[in-house]
Amino acid sequence: MNGNAMSNRFSDYESQWLAPYAMHSQDSEGRVHSEPTHPYRGPFQRDRDRIIHSSAFRRLAHKTQVFTGEMGDYHRTRLTHTLEVASIARTLGRALRLNEDLIEALCLAHDIGHPPFGHAGEDVLDECLKEHGGFNHNRQALRIVELLESRYPDFPGLNLSQEVLSGQTTRARRGSTSEQPLLEVQVVDAADSIAYDSHDADDSLELGLLEFDQLLAVPLWREAAEHVQSRYTALQPAQLRSAIVHRLIEKLVSDLLSATWERLDEEAVQSVVAVRSCNRRLVGPSKEIASHKAQLESFLFNEVYRHPTVLKKRSIAGEALQAMFERFSSHPEKLPDKFFKRADVDGLPRAIGDFLAGMTDRYSLDEYRRGA
Ligand code: MG
Repeated sequence: MNGNAMSNRFSDYESQWLAPYAMHSQDSEGRVHSEPTHPYRGPFQRDRDRIIHSSAFRRLAHKTQVFTGEMGDYHRTRLTHTLEVASIARTLGRALRLNEDLIEALCLAHDIGHPPFGHAGEDVLDECLKEHGGFNHNRQALRIVELLESRYPDFPGLNLSQEVLSGQTTRARRGSTSEQPLLEVQVVDAADSIAYDSHDADDSLELGLLEFDQLLAVPLWREAAEHVQSRYTALQPAQLRSAIVHRLIEKLVSDLLSATWERLDEEAVQSVVAVRSCNRRLVGPSKEIASHKAQLESFLFNEVYRHPTVLKKRSIAGEALQAMFERFSSHPEKLPDKFFKRADVDGLPRAIGDFLAGMTDRYSLDEYRRGA
């Protein structure tokens, strides 16, 4: 079978399976640097593969999600968070008959721009770069995939499809807000939130930052706990916790699907154009669950993200990044060649920001201690 025949089979498969409001590969706006179609992979599959093979993606394994590496081996890293988001989002996407390949590519890239030490690192870099446009992990993800990755001889970055770039642009709030993003993009945002709500509660309990009883004050968690305990009476604490997390994800996913189907029906959406011109986002939880999620998130914000142990780690990380930013500003010749050259194009502060943002947690602390 030749390449054209394969690519026809691919569009046949999509037109049979995908909903009319899904993003079909054959309607893609393509890439900045045009490339021939691949004989047996669709455009969004190629995007996914390029992201997985990028060095920025591999480094997510050694970057903080909420809790730093030395706090233990159980909790989520930026990489495992990303994979959990992809798992939830693909489930949602398949049930809604959306483009799973596009969803997966968007998920795998969504946190690729995070600097070491998560939001602590982001805040420090934003402060260091405040006179030069600031720093934001969503915008940094675009810099990485459009510019900083250098894997291909024919173009800078990964030359991803426009739909992946525009999805990430929506996250970076750079795009127009008058148009709604594709449903595939909306699914990724929803899955991100389901993943961190459930895994941050789980990790906090494992790390001893929260006591089980504290979480029972949160209705969403309490309902899940009661559901599990009504079925199993003699679970060990770790089994109970896992079962509650599973129940929580299941409940959030089921609610999101039924609320989204309802909105799709109400708006009678039949095309991508109709999705874009809708006056509201269609993918999201029901009102009741949205308010319960907000309670859980506010609880996690106050009790976990502001926990003294977490704040202490944040401040150590912040000091290291700030000091390195100042050192490289005084001694740009110490930057690796790639970033030293970027200073000619983007200015020294941005080049330092790119270098520091690409570091893993461990590498950044090693460099700091060795006087980089
Ligand atoms: Mg995320």
